[in-house]
Amino acid sequence: MMSKSCVVTGNIWTGDPQNPHAEALRIGGDRIVQVGEKSDVVPAKGEEIYDFGDCLVTPGFTDSHIHFGAYARAGMYPDCGAANSLEELLDFLRAQVKDAAPGQWVRCINFIELNWKHPAVPSRLQLDSIAPETPLLVSHYGAHFHIANTKAFELSGLWDSRDPEIERGADGLPAGRLFDSGADAMIKAIEAQYETNEALMSFSERALKKLSSMGIVALHACDAPSYALGERPDILQDLDERGALPMRVFLYHDELPNFAIRSGAGLNGGHIAYAGLKLFADGSLGARTAALNEPYSDKDDEYGRLLYTDEKLMEKFRAAQKRRIQVQIHAIGDAANEQVVRCMEAVQKELGRPTFSYRLNHAIVLPEGMPERIARAGIVVDLQPIQMWDDRNMAPSRLGERLYRRTYQLRRLADAGVLLTGSSDAPCDDPNPWYGIGIAATHCGLDGSMLQGQNAGQKLTLDEALELYTTNPWKALGAKDGTAGMLVPGARADIAVADGNVFDRAPENICKVKNQATFFEGRRVF
Ligand SMILES: [Zn+2]
Repeated sequence: MMSKSCVVTGNIWTGDPQNPHAEALRIGGDRIVQVGEKSDVVPAKGEEIYDFGDCLVTPGFTDSHIHFGAYARAGMYPDCGAANSLEELLDFLRAQVKDAAPGQWVRCINFIELNWKHPAVPSRLQLDSIAPETPLLVSHYGAHFHIANTKAFELSGLWDSRDPEIERGADGLPAGRLFDSGADAMIKAIEAQYETNEALMSFSERALKKLSSMGIVALHACDAPSYALGERPDILQDLDERGALPMRVFLYHDELPNFAIRSGAGLNGGHIAYAGLKLFADGSLGARTAALNEPYSDKDDEYGRLLYTDEKLMEKFRAAQKRRIQVQIHAIGDAANEQVVRCMEAVQKELGRPTFSYRLNHAIVLPEGMPERIARAGIVVDLQPIQMWDDRNMAPSRLGERLYRRTYQLRRLADAGVLLTGSSDAPCDDPNPWYGIGIAATHCGLDGSMLQGQNAGQKLTLDEALELYTTNPWKALGAKDGTAGMLVPGARADIAVADGNVFDRAPENICKVKNQATFFEGRRVF
């Protein structure tokens, strides 16, 4: 349903560097038709007016890396993230399995021990002590590892599996932990039990409403089914047909499609589009599987690991680039980032620049000189500023002080000329874009305190931080019209409205900004 013409007034940040500020804009149908001073954009008789006073009006936000399906499904499973000790966790799990029917799987999500006084991961036997008969899977908050009890290993057929992603004790038996894709068989059994189409529809609709209430108008959704981070585009299509998809979704899949589609399909219209290939180069800092060039500071025989050899990775890059399919790859440790950049450089040397830029996701620990190399290779970097806050205790202990100072080099990347996008990696972190914008621009955490230990010179300006979530994601996708993600005539009328003039706020209050209104294609959706 198209809106009629209306006028929006406020403290408008357009995203257009030529004309960054305005007082009023006119929406006609799904487009912005006029932007200027209040004296230029005079409401016609009977034209609807949205007057937001001096509140900041920006282009609607994009979350450039989200696992939407997992974010939506998170509502289906008990969340054990509030447990503050191993005892509390086991009590919580005991309560969840108490009423399980015979054979019914129980999965709890968002287990996070990193900020506990005594961080500990339960063993298989500890889970058996509270769940002897019920198959139980506990997923760590980033889904980079899970812990299962004996019943879960037996029912999934993984008890005797030789998969190296399944941790085994000195006795050769499963210790409990399953890394990355190691829990795939259990996840599949759980999904079959819980994730009916009806359930997926209703939880997806709820999740979309929540994202929309945060000012989000576009998602770059990454499908990683073997990490329990699968997407269901068909559910989104069903919702779209019912008019219940208040944003555009750009899908990345973890395999090349076996038919000849290119990236950019749907970029100029439609709500669901194919965007490209998503790969993983390493794991996570929390699970000590992110690949480092030196041992972890808190485990001196552990370096993490690379998931590909250079040859294999280059093969994947080459195959995608030849088909004009964009590649986005997860790399966290310095060894992984170095490998990915090295392989992208080599493939670009052979094949030239790709039609759609390579995208490096996370880029948390970067060795000396890497931001400049990334810039020279034209690689887009996607960052999750919210993780600077969430990992503030875990990352320094994993990396040690010196390496920790090489994390989240926002300023250095921006100064080198790298195109940066911002995201949440939800459900790993909260998708509220104001958390990301606030932390990137101020280095103040969600409670207003300054982040410690990080290089304070790595902050962005507020304008740059806004670009991470507005104009830059469209450039990253390869949008060519030059108006995407901006509030300029001809652009889609996708708008977010903050609850005040953010530019006047004290740094410690920017994370506390709340979105008060969202327009999608000219229609007020929140
Ligand atoms: Zn992710």
